[in-house]
Amino acid sequence: MQAKGGRLSKINIKSKSYKAFTTRTIETIPQFAALPSEIHDAIETVSRVMPFRASNYVIDELIDWDRPAEDPIFRLIFPQKGMLSPEDYDSLASKVRAGEPEAVLKEEARRIQQKMNPHPAGQMELNVPKCGGETINGMQHKYRETVLFFPSQGQVCHAYCTYCFRWAQFVGVDDLRFACGDPQALITYLKNHPEVTDVLFTGGDPLIMSSRIIRRYVEPILKERPGNVRSIRFGTKVAAYWPYRFLTDKDADDLIRLFDEIIDAGYHLAIMSHFTHNRELETDAAKAAIRRLVSTGANVRCQAPLIHHINDDPQVWRTMWETQVSLGAVPYYMFIERDTGPKEYFSVPLGRAYEIFTEAYSQVSGLARTVRGPSMSATPGKVLVDGVTELGGEKLFALKFIQARDPKWVNRLFFAKYDENATWLDDLTPAFGEKKFFFEA
Ligand SMILES: *Cc1c(COP(=O)(O)O)cnc(C)c1O
Ligand code: SF4
Repeated sequence: MQAKGGRLSKINIKSKSYKAFTTRTIETIPQFAALPSEIHDAIETVSRVMPFRASNYVIDELIDWDRPAEDPIFRLIFPQKGMLSPEDYDSLASKVRAGEPEAVLKEEARRIQQKMNPHPAGQMELNVPKCGGETINGMQHKYRETVLFFPSQGQVCHAYCTYCFRWAQFVGVDDLRFACGDPQALITYLKNHPEVTDVLFTGGDPLIMSSRIIRRYVEPILKERPGNVRSIRFGTKVAAYWPYRFLTDKDADDLIRLFDEIIDAGYHLAIMSHFTHNRELETDAAKAAIRRLVSTGANVRCQAPLIHHINDDPQVWRTMWETQVSLGAVPYYMFIERDTGPKEYFSVPLGRAYEIFTEAYSQVSGLARTVRGPSMSATPGKVLVDGVTELGGEKLFALKFIQARDPKWVNRLFFAKYDENATWLDDLTPAFGEKKFFFEA
């Protein structure tokens, strides 16, 4: 049977077989070997702390190897010197240079990893559903309508973003307490929680799983129709890191067929696609992948964080949103980088984030203004930086919740003192001399 959302016959893409390079095999990347020795040494050192993984597609088709040091995709994938503090970097680099035994280098890397905050927004304690006092692993239920499900086989990615807040999981500092291998646990939860309308499969990257395994998680929803689920979403970066997943991989058609079935069963299917830079939308394979997804009737909704050194440029966002619309995808969120890992290296101050968003937003058609941001996924909720303004002689940030732990907080405007260095909600103080923000009461 040919998948209905097929239309692949109209798209002429040569197949490619997947190959991943990891920390252990980083040296075997031909383009990498040719880099200047300082870049080489830095990456060798930092990749002992931060995870590295890249697909051959990223290496061959996304990175511009003529000028890697300035290349946004190179910086997105390859660990950078500035991601460690100067002291940590020097300490580890000198041990690497001295040829210390592997065990010593590992221990030093571990020490540095432990210092970085791998758990933003109270994820390990809050939001984890309980059933009869028992914690249910592999699920997160923070906002009333949406349950996040972390299938155990989907907790890695085809390539790793240097800014990822899940890095601790990829290097094994975290156990996979967060993952669940039992599709029935999800069904039971949905039956008991009629307020849930959306299931969001996330990771890592859930679409790294084989189509057969994805089906094992999804089919029970289609058959049992638990609770009041209306939408099935996948949070993924596959269209950016391995678009052949949707095109020529041997189980690509099976996945498209499953997507057809989700839609035929009357569910809204959303592929929440992470695109960091316009470059990721420019290859033939990426374009074909998005077109094919859209042709199933799925909504491709695009989101990414704003990252210093990688995409802190309004023209990048403008082009990205325009390209997304032209491919039939929907710009959805611009996030502010979370307070975790090598935060100093990547963060953009809130005031600057607001300027970048506004400059890009004001240059695109209304069809691209479906995007919301810049938004912080903070402990109390998703907080939108909605304006920079002056009231009563005081310069302020206007903020509001677009998602909140307590639904009553949503869409209520509140104010913080303007602070040009603030990069996160925790850095802000309430305006008008108030002691606390309303949600802290
Ligand atoms: C962003 C997010 C969601 C989804 O929110 P939408 O605004 O519906 O896309 C769900 N759960 C958590 C924990 C989130 O951070
Ligand atoms: S694709 Fe997502 S989960 Fe994977 S490394 Fe990038 S940000 Fe992290």
